[in-house]
Amino acid sequence: MNDYGNPGASGDTRGLFRPGQGHAHEPRQAHPEEEARLRKALCEIGRLCYDRNLIVGADGNLSARLSDDTILITPAGAMKGFMEPSHITKVDMEGRVLGGGARASTETGIHVTSYQARPEMRAVVHAHPPHAVAMTIAGIDLQMPVIPEVVVTIGGIPTAPYATPGTHELPDSIRELLRCSDTVMMKMHGSISLGTNLMDAFKKLDMLEHTAKILYLAHTLRGGLDPLPPEAVERLLQTRKLLGIDTKNTFETRCGL
Ligand SMILES: [Zn+2]
Repeated sequence: MNDYGNPGASGDTRGLFRPGQGHAHEPRQAHPEEEARLRKALCEIGRLCYDRNLIVGADGNLSARLSDDTILITPAGAMKGFMEPSHITKVDMEGRVLGGGARASTETGIHVTSYQARPEMRAVVHAHPPHAVAMTIAGIDLQMPVIPEVVVTIGGIPTAPYATPGTHELPDSIRELLRCSDTVMMKMHGSISLGTNLMDAFKKLDMLEHTAKILYLAHTLRGGLDPLPPEAVERLLQTRKLLGIDTKNTFETRCGL
């Protein structure tokens, strides 16, 4: 476990995620140390996203789920590169602010939907990685298997159709894709990456943007991209199995293909 891990995350808590069955009024308390650590980690990963140009201004939002199934989330309008732990707000599994904290991110629905779709995940990062978003605007499919490392680790990256930010359309548009991939693009908007902890979610975002950058360069140089042949993809999936990598991979789930 690294500094951004989330102890106490074991156990089947699926029953807690059904709409209408939240525990907003009688929450179990997460350990104060756990909460303090995750507040700090949200600020540090926010800074990292900002420094790596994955978000600018007040873009994007980040969250981490505590062991009592409440969610720490970045507040609406905050510059994610310059947050203090006290700025972070807390919501329940239906997105209601707890404890009189600051107004939660306008995209809280993305985070709640992510945790509902993937109960084993403990962190969600939504960003606007420029090359990856440009690919969705240009209509270049990030599902295409081109780079071996990405086939093994992340898999194809599905893109949800355009939906209006800040509305229920957006979480509705990604719900099914999140079940079959840890990393999803929202057309003309941004990315969502899910992780077993914040660093894991950040790692997938970082890899997504790096991949998009390489594909962008290749596309610019040659005017097109060729996928790896199916038998090469099959061999990479065997390697993945041998390495014990268990992210949701679209080449296995067949999601969006
Ligand atoms: Zn956004």
